[in-house]
Formats: sequence, structure tokens, C-alpha cells
Amino acid sequence: MTSAWIVAQLSCLACGSGPERPNVLLLTVDTLRADRLGCYGEPSNAGPVLCSIADTGIRYVWAFSAAPSTAPAIASLHTSTYPSRHGVTQFASTSLPNMARTLAEEFRAAGYDTAAVVSNPVLGPGRNIGQGFDLYDTEMTRTERNRAGFMEREAEATTDTAFRWLSGASEPWFLWVHYQDPHGPYEPPGAPRADDAAGAKRLPRLADHSGYRGIPAYQLLSGAFAPGTYEARYLDEIAYLDAEIARLLERVDADERLPAIAVSSDHGEAFGEDDYWFAHGHSVGVEQVRVPLLWRPPGGGRAAVVHAPVSTLDIAPTLLAAAGLPVPASFQGVVLPRTDDASDASRVLFLEHRMRAGVVAGAHYYARDRSVLHGPMRDRITGGLLRPLPARTARLASGGAVGRYRPSAAGGAGEAAAQALAPVLDRFVSATGSPPEVDREPLPEQTRQQLEALGYLE
Ligand SMILES: [Zn+2]
Repeated sequence: MTSAWIVAQLSCLACGSGPERPNVLLLTVDTLRADRLGCYGEPSNAGPVLCSIADTGIRYVWAFSAAPSTAPAIASLHTSTYPSRHGVTQFASTSLPNMARTLAEEFRAAGYDTAAVVSNPVLGPGRNIGQGFDLYDTEMTRTERNRAGFMEREAEATTDTAFRWLSGASEPWFLWVHYQDPHGPYEPPGAPRADDAAGAKRLPRLADHSGYRGIPAYQLLSGAFAPGTYEARYLDEIAYLDAEIARLLERVDADERLPAIAVSSDHGEAFGEDDYWFAHGHSVGVEQVRVPLLWRPPGGGRAAVVHAPVSTLDIAPTLLAAAGLPVPASFQGVVLPRTDDASDASRVLFLEHRMRAGVVAGAHYYARDRSVLHGPMRDRITGGLLRPLPARTARLASGGAVGRYRPSAAGGAGEAAAQALAPVLDRFVSATGSPPEVDREPLPEQTRQQLEALGYLE
């Protein structure tokens, strides 16, 4: 019997028996950088509705996804396990094993109606992440601007699909909605043509999707090459998304019994860090693995801010505990602390990428390549090149409202932290092994031809 199970049973005394269990809403937003939300310090106060969820709940200043790309990150969230455990990587040929225990399976076994409305095509049924959902809706509605055959679904259609299911759902219900906006291209419906400011610094257009020193091919907006143009458009995507979240909240909060709500993201986005632009999935840099995390318990509660680092692996145990359900022993996450004082000071979080790995402990972040890379390697995901990155540390602010971090190269101010955390990471990497570099993924023909023309392929 685990302590998490006992906590769950105790909380069940408050929530009552089966019919009284709370409805539960899990919202994930693809590619949402925490620091582009007003509640995490964005100056124009972007995402006010989304942020308002923490007005009656808890905002986690330092929340980390287990991986910097969609499929492994989402599989981690639903199984509360690291990618090295569940086996889902960026490669489309990987899927979640049937034996994995998922959050939705736990809710369904407890009598919940369950549904997922998922608007990123890399989370299609072939990934097997929909285990436990009565409905796993991945009907895409529009073709991405620059990639023929790559479909997605905008937020309005996503919300409408959630409404259709809610209208026939029996209580208690568990609904997961994964919004694709603000994933690139940054083009919310009805957006006017993007124009660069006169005299603005411009980046070249890349033939691949890597984002290294240029605009990824899939991100290109007509005639736009200035980073500022893309950053502004990213905020436009958040504004569009926020209006849809307002619509969804109005619907679910009309119920007298306010549902529990958790909001997070699968990963962030590089806005120039390491010279990568408007891309993710190439490292475990803070800008890619730090995500927003807001948690409103059933019925709402007092607003609080927690600075202790937490993981998206903690979401599943928290939702189950809030519903008075036991937490499976396979879950590697813990119930989210409600205060800093209630957090486990010895907690260590890991960050996984097939070529990099990272660790967060207390106020310190440390990441490095898994093994010494002797020059760039071809990346079969983006068509670009993965380059060696120096080991680095960052200090995470343990106070303040929004959370700032100070990167420092190894050998500098972060040397002591690197020395302390490097052996911890070494042990984790050697115990878990590297995620397999699956070499079966065929490159799209157009990308293959472009790379061949550039001399990247033999
Ligand atoms: Zn994603």
C-alpha cells in the first residue's frame, strides 16, 4: 500500500463515494512556452483566461515536461512514466504498449465517462495513447500551410468537438482536450498577412525543419523573415487559443460542481536559444522543457504559487487523488504539492531526449549530451542536423512571481551545481539507457530531395 494510495483514500472521505466523484478536465496546449503567458511574466499579459484558472488554484512556477517533443511528452503525462520507461519517442513508428497503465484507464475503471479531443496529428490512433478513452477524437480539419498532407485542427473546431461529447456525457466524466494552437506555423484563423518591421533583423529560410540559424521550412509565413514577426504571431495564436479556452470554461463551469482542471503543455519552443528559431525537439533546453502548469482542485480553492520544481508526470497522480482514486504503483510522478512547504526537497526530475538528457533538483538545472558527439549528426525528424551542445547549468529562481532562470555555462558560476548533478544524471542515463535511435523512419520525398541537393545525404 503506497502513501499516495492512502492520501487518495483520505481525500476520498471529502469527495464521497462514486456518484460524488468530481468531473475532471485536462487541458494541454501544444508548444506553449511558459514565459509567453502573462502569469509567467509575458509583458503584454498574454493568455489571461488560461492564467485565470490559477485564481482559484495553484500555479507551478517551475514545471517541466519529461521530453521536448509531443508524442513522448504526452505519453509521459498519461502514464506518469519517463519516455525511457514507456518507449514512445519522436519517431512515428513507436507506440505505447498495451500493458502501459494510463490515466484514462484508471478513470474508466472507476466508472467515469472518458473522452479525448486531440488536434495534433502525431498523436493519432497509431500511437496507442488513447487507451482508456471511450472516445479518442483525432479528426483533423485543415491542412498545415507549408506541409501538404500534414493535417491539424484549429481551436474552435476542437472546442466544438468537446462540446458535442459533453452534451451526451454522464457524470462523472474525464475529458482531455489537446489544443494544437500555438504550434507552428503561427497562423491563427483570420490572421492578416505578416509583415516584417522596416529595418528588422531577418533570418534566412531553411530547406529543412530544424530551425538552426533560420526559419524552419514548415514555419514560413509569406514574406516574413524577421524573428519579431514570428514572435508577435505566436502571441496572436495564444490570444486565439485563449478565447477558445474561455468558451470551454464557460461551458464546464456552468455546472454547480466546478470540475477539477489541470492545464499544461507538452513542450516549449526555441526563440533563438542555441541559435534555434521557432523549433523544438532538438534539445532539453529550459525553453523547450519548461511548461506552464495550473491546477484547480475540484470546486476550486485558494490561489497559491509553488516554486518547488514539479513534473508533468505529477499530473496523472494528482487528478486520480483528487477523485479519490488510488494511484497505480507504475506511476513515477507524485501528487502535486499544494505549497512549497509540502514539497519534497529531495525530489529529482529528469529530462529525456534521444541525444541529450537533463536533471532538475531544487533550484538547479543541468543538461548535457548523452555521449560525446564528434560533429553534427543527421536528424531524421527535422531533416536538419543535430549538433553537439555544451553541458550547461541554470539557476531557477526560488522566489518571485514569474520565475526567471539564469543560464551559466559549465566552468562558470554553475560549476558547483554541475559537479553535484552530473553524477546523478550519469546514473539515470546508465540505468535507463538511451531511447533507441529508430532508423526506419522514411524521410518525406520532398525533404529527401532538398537535403540531397544541399549535400546532406549520400
Ligand atoms: Zn507538441
